Amino acid sequence: MVDKTLRFHCDLCKKTLAVKLTAEFQENFKKKADYWPYPMIYKHADHWAVVYLDQQFKERGVNPSKIIYEA
Ligand SMILES: [Zn+2]
Repeated sequence: MVDKTLRFHCDLCKKTLAVKLTAEFQENFKKKADYWPYPMIYKHADHWAVVYLDQQFKERGVNPSKIIYEA
């Protein structure tokens, strides 16, 4: 596996973000994901983006959120 750059648009901050996905990250993701597309939660600025990824690590939908509930 090779490093990949994931690009997605966040509707909250109106930016296109570029995130480096290392080979190690991709291997761990594939081990843990038990359905596809699988969500990756990306924290940036003061909010989160739930980014759904397929098995080729292409973006399959983004849901931004300003709210996290930590119990
Ligand atoms: Zn954002």
